Amino acid sequence: MNSPAHGRLIDGKAIAAQVLAEVREDVAELRAQGLQPALAVVLVGEDPASQVYVRNKVLRAEEAGIRSIEHRLPAQTEQATLLALIERLNDDAEVHGILVQLPLPPHIDENPVLQAIDPAKDVDGFHSDNVGGLSQGRAVLTPCTPAGCLRLLKQTCGELAGKHAVVIGRSNIVGKPMAALLLQADCTVTVVHSRSHDAAALCRQADIVVAAVGRPRMIDASWLKPGAVVIDVGINRIEEHGRTRLVGDVDFASALPLVSAITPVPGGVGPMTIAMLMHNTVSAARQQHISHVAQAAATETACPTTC
Ligand code: NAD
Repeated sequence: MNSPAHGRLIDGKAIAAQVLAEVREDVAELRAQGLQPALAVVLVGEDPASQVYVRNKVLRAEEAGIRSIEHRLPAQTEQATLLALIERLNDDAEVHGILVQLPLPPHIDENPVLQAIDPAKDVDGFHSDNVGGLSQGRAVLTPCTPAGCLRLLKQTCGELAGKHAVVIGRSNIVGKPMAALLLQADCTVTVVHSRSHDAAALCRQADIVVAAVGRPRMIDASWLKPGAVVIDVGINRIEEHGRTRLVGDVDFASALPLVSAITPVPGGVGPMTIAMLMHNTVSAARQQHISHVAQAAATETACPTTC
């Protein structure tokens, strides 16, 4: 790692653009084989933030050459109706990825909805089959934000094996899958959470810090070892000097002189999340195509056309 006082920015926008360029190439290759990758995005209700996220996902998909299919359902949609839609999408061979935008309205139970998605089409990586596969170190569809953080770390640090990584936060969406991915990359992993004793002291031991807490500027220089690499997942909206600003969980100004590299907020992890969603959609399409071809070959062997 670089010596201290050389803190540099990890450019999430640029690395996300690289991922999307790779995705475009993969899509072109699949299309040449007659396969058009497609992503279904399901939005229930009119939550303004969710509408923006969905619009951005659809736009990025189109830019990458992925067909996007939007399903916008009214806020009062019943759970059974949503489950029936997911079943139809599961059965549709022309849909390779299914994303249900969270949060769902309060009357819908999130877990059965996420469990209803075919694990092979679960591009958010939230189905328990994929969660279990990740913890066993199998190649499965992985949650997009931690997968994006891992890519940022690999491009920043190179080899990750043996590094001590501290993940702050233990949510199912970010903290836990992040810890599993870092373990898979042969890091020594510590997970720090709201009940940890002296979180700052644990964090000061880290070569790599991934902060996913949701508390503005909680982690300042006193939490960090000189030369650490810091990935700030937090997105916090605060009022400052009479205007609304987005800040991370890390106190960027105090951390920058001390660390070797750090992601800014915005422009760090955020762009990677959508890029990894596109990556997952193409992986899902390729995998389903391979399974389909293998199945067809097995059927042919069991019952040749002459039978
Ligand atoms: P969450 O609320 O589900 O989890 C927060 C975690 O922080 C919990 O596990 C809790 O134990 C831990 N925590 C709370 N207080 C703590 C403390 N004082 N010390 C140590 N740990 C503490 O949140 P989440 O969904 O994991 O999201 C975390 C942040 O990341 C939020 O700001 C969210 O907006 C952001 N986020 C960003 C992206 C992105 O694309 N950039 C994606 C997902 C989440």
